[in-house]
Amino acid sequence: MLEQTLKTNIQKIETNIQKVCEKNSRDINDINLICVSKSVDDETTKQVVDQGIIHLAENRMEKLLEKKEFLKEEAHIKWHFIGNLQRRKVKTVINEIDYFHALDNVKLAAEIDKRAEKQIKCFVQVNVSGEESKQGVSPDSLSEFIDSLSVFENIAVVGLMTMAPYEASNEELHRIFSDLNRLKKAIEDKKLAYAPCKELSMGMSRDYEIAISEGATFVRVGSGFFDDDEKEVGTDEFI
Ligand SMILES: *Cc1c(COP(=O)(O)O)cnc(C)c1O
Repeated sequence: MLEQTLKTNIQKIETNIQKVCEKNSRDINDINLICVSKSVDDETTKQVVDQGIIHLAENRMEKLLEKKEFLKEEAHIKWHFIGNLQRRKVKTVINEIDYFHALDNVKLAAEIDKRAEKQIKCFVQVNVSGEESKQGVSPDSLSEFIDSLSVFENIAVVGLMTMAPYEASNEELHRIFSDLNRLKKAIEDKKLAYAPCKELSMGMSRDYEIAISEGATFVRVGSGFFDDDEKEVGTDEFI
């Protein structure tokens, strides 16, 4: 893609993040901008890195491994896996990533624990909205699920992650993200060594500003980096 388009998009996103932080008295250093590079090729992903972005996310194992190989000189990159991870693929990818954003069942946790060569930073995915099509544990079963992870030495629950429904209104987005924040605080307050749960992975191109206003510490932005039309990135609404 055109380098200038990418530059402009990144500047727009970073300015929006700065604004929403100011408005909500958040420290900008607490916000980690992840570029979801799943829709672009190796070269474009490298352009993103050349622009100073350090967090990259992929949702397909093969693609993550391919890009990591392509960018192997760039040892400072933090790799995030945001997709559904099949158990049989865990051993191939789990030691190649820095964060896993979609932990939502005990069998997967057991496989990660078995294959990991170090503690893996995991986000537990929560289906806050209750949409049937969404991955994630239900808010009601979250506490029990977190308890069940205590036996796994190689799993560190660094935080919670959610995806909002595509058609959610701004009001619903606020509610979903503030619900996840409340669930996070409840786990954090337990002060579990294996589940410090200080982070919130929430917000995508459409809703990252609302997510930040509700406490996000990791935002996962994809199309906002790469769309080259005049469409506004994010919303103007971040009350
Ligand atoms: C694709 C994807 C994103 C990025 O979505 P955009 O709307 O392109 O910003 C974020 N999180 C997850 C889990 C995704 O699959």
